[in-house]
Amino acid sequence: MPSVCSVAVCRASSRVSKVKFHKFPRNQEFQNLWIEKCGRKDDFNPKTGRVCEIHFFDDDYFETKTSGLKKLKPDAIPGKKLTIENQGRMSSRIQRAKTKRKSEIDVEIMQMKSTNFIFQLKMYISKMLNDC
Ligand SMILES: [Zn+2]
Repeated sequence: MPSVCSVAVCRASSRVSKVKFHKFPRNQEFQNLWIEKCGRKDDFNPKTGRVCEIHFFDDDYFETKTSGLKKLKPDAIPGKKLTIENQGRMSSRIQRAKTKRKSEIDVEIMQMKSTNFIFQLKMYISKMLNDC
């Protein structure tokens, strides 16, 4: 039986893609978190369910010393591509807007810093002059 990703919006299936699938953690608390992240409206069995690798971040994995294989950390929780907004055009638009805003903010901060620096310099100089 091919593995299918349990994440509601995910279409990954071992039949069509080569992504890795991860079993739900046995730890009840983490299992519940995974189920929550899947965003499923229907009931499904976490014992047979799988979550594909695209929902995990790079640092959710660790390399095993013996085999050098990447393994999912026991405390990893799916955090990527869990909603449709994360996958569609919307996301890249938001991303672009944020990136643009970020460079604007960087400039603003830089200007604020330099104004502040000049202001302090003026204060310092006037204080020096007064002290003389
Ligand atoms: Zn998936």
